[in-house]
Amino acid sequence: MVSFGAQVDFAVPHIKIKNLNKHYDVQGTPVHALKNINLEIPEGKIFGIIGKSGAGKSSLIRTLNGLESISGGSIHIHQQDLSRLNHAELIQLRQRMGMIFQHFNLMSAKTVRENVALPLKVAGCSAAEIAPRVNEALQLVGLTEKADHYPSQLSGGQKQRVGIARALVHHPEILLCDEATSALDPESTAAVLSLLKEINRKLGITIVLITHEMQVIREICDQVVVIERGEIIEAGQVWSVFSAPQQPLTQELLKLEQLDLPFALHALPDAHSTQLILKLRYAAPASQSPDLKAMLNQLDGPVQLYQSHVDTIQQHLVGALIVAVPAAQLDISALQQKLKQHIAQIEVLGYARPAH
Ligand code: ADP
Repeated sequence: MVSFGAQVDFAVPHIKIKNLNKHYDVQGTPVHALKNINLEIPEGKIFGIIGKSGAGKSSLIRTLNGLESISGGSIHIHQQDLSRLNHAELIQLRQRMGMIFQHFNLMSAKTVRENVALPLKVAGCSAAEIAPRVNEALQLVGLTEKADHYPSQLSGGQKQRVGIARALVHHPEILLCDEATSALDPESTAAVLSLLKEINRKLGITIVLITHEMQVIREICDQVVVIERGEIIEAGQVWSVFSAPQQPLTQELLKLEQLDLPFALHALPDAHSTQLILKLRYAAPASQSPDLKAMLNQLDGPVQLYQSHVDTIQQHLVGALIVAVPAAQLDISALQQKLKQHIAQIEVLGYARPAH
């Protein structure tokens, strides 16, 4: 077991998943929920798995702590092959992992303190061992004052903090988060995400989270994989995936996050249009502000700027510009080549008539 404050080695994959397959049998019909998943999750990082409903996220996270059996391939946690563990070893492994859930899974008839103590009680720890661990976990999540309250007396964000304290009470080395903020309002979501980040930084715990919200990925993850119909379709550092999403699903998931075509410019037939609307995505280390003028100077003719947006993600400025340029003879691949020093991606959003 890794104790709080342990030194971590970022070079060693904490979790290694190889050719993982998962089939369910639904009344004789096989459902292939995970298809040849290959993943290396580094130690001490926050790793996000994003996808739509039914993509296979829960199946994937549940295989990591042995809650779900696998149909093929392997999962190693620190070189320990999950499929070779006997029952007792599996229980030990689960104690090295904490898990938090979308709907918190607290026991309503027990106080906050009793909820947090539960995993230690189940593991047969003595009252003398339990008390300091529970106090430590409650302090970590800032709920010492609420120790004798019942879940019904807490807000959603506070309930999730109890869930986090309960997950940490065993001093786990991995924290699995299953849509941990999906049931929370924006303010509580921000508070819970910043708590998770703090726990990761302070304790060196590897966090694996699943979500359908890009905002969660942007806020706290170091790396992300996008999963669709049981397959990984895109993976990388968060800033890099946000600045140049390759797959249509990734672009769609990012749409809610980033700029979209101004409403007035939608659906203009190109036959009547002389302007092309482009989205230019760029990324640069935060220490080197990108030269927007140099970027725009590469575009021929008059350039109209419709929208501009920039985010800071993992010490990178990740931005997008929506511009209108004369459509005549615009060669996107030549432009891409010209702009490659500045721009990560060019997307044609549509056509417009020039503004009068
Ligand atoms: P997600 O978490 O991304 O919504 P899931 O892992 O829950 O996706 O589901 C992936 C696929 O596996 C879906 O087609 C779902 O219907 C199926 N599935 C998930 N759990 C079970 C189960 N216990 N029995 C049968 N099919 C399941």
